[in-house]
Amino acid sequence: MTIVNNKLSDHFSLRELTHSAVAVRHGLDNIPTVREVANLTNLTIHVLEPVRTYFNIPFRPTSGYRNLAVNKLVGSKPSSQHITGHAADFEIPTIANFDLAHWIKDNLEFDQLILEFYQKDNPVSGWVHCSYVAGHNRKMSLIFDGKRYKEF
Ligand SMILES: [Zn+2]
Repeated sequence: MTIVNNKLSDHFSLRELTHSAVAVRHGLDNIPTVREVANLTNLTIHVLEPVRTYFNIPFRPTSGYRNLAVNKLVGSKPSSQHITGHAADFEIPTIANFDLAHWIKDNLEFDQLILEFYQKDNPVSGWVHCSYVAGHNRKMSLIFDGKRYKEF
């Protein structure tokens, strides 16, 4: 068993937070450093696990840690908090992303919460991006419609 199978919390493993279909497809490693694992652990304990507990529905983050090469391949900026293991993207089956984002905003501590590629006439559109930076959480909540960011 390698380190990536380690559990970060009751319902989430490091393997889930480092899995990348893009990395697999390109034959790239996507292995975080000890510091990045610590960041992923904080994110999991303070954001993902409380979301899992409250909604009581299993889900797997669609993207967590991404090294620079993987991050570039998915078209993300080099300033992305995925690179440091501070951020994850996720959705919960049967829950509207709009409702998920609002529950996080009202109930959790976080650095940046973004309702990504959200169309206001479609509550299940897009996905939720959330980051957690221990000791430096700005609690910024934004909606991105594909063109511009707006606070919510
Ligand atoms: Zn993201």
